[in-house]
Amino acid sequence: METNIKIIGKISKIDDLKFRAKVIPFECKYCGRIFKIPQSSNFFKKTTPGPCVCGKKDFSEILEIITSEDIIEHQKGEIEIYNGLPRKFGIKKIPIIFENGLVNKNDVGETVELDGILSIYSVPKVNMDVFKKFVLNVKGYKKIVSG
Ligand SMILES: [Zn+2]
Repeated sequence: METNIKIIGKISKIDDLKFRAKVIPFECKYCGRIFKIPQSSNFFKKTTPGPCVCGKKDFSEILEIITSEDIIEHQKGEIEIYNGLPRKFGIKKIPIIFENGLVNKNDVGETVELDGILSIYSVPKVNMDVFKKFVLNVKGYKKIVSG
């Protein structure tokens, strides 16, 4: 489930800048065919090809032919929420992701207002409860200067 939200909070963690591919080329290990597979914005999942036309399903990634247009810069972090997330969720901190033009703009300890798309994943647990995992994909930010 995805929803647009605006939250106010304090940046509590910022990781180093990383890169990921929008499209990953996979080469069939048997016949050499190449499949360029678009990747979703879900950072927890890599999309791989289905079976090759030769019938096999064994691929290697050929990262050296990825072009710069197919690379997304991104930075993960975490925000301590003051305001903006419905209380029913009962959470105080959520992971955040900055991409491309929004990377390296925010520091730990800053109070910010973030616009973005909140993704909510349901992760089933052994005892049949479902626990929810949240990620905010930041689309805009505003620093809030206090005092
Ligand atoms: Zn093949």
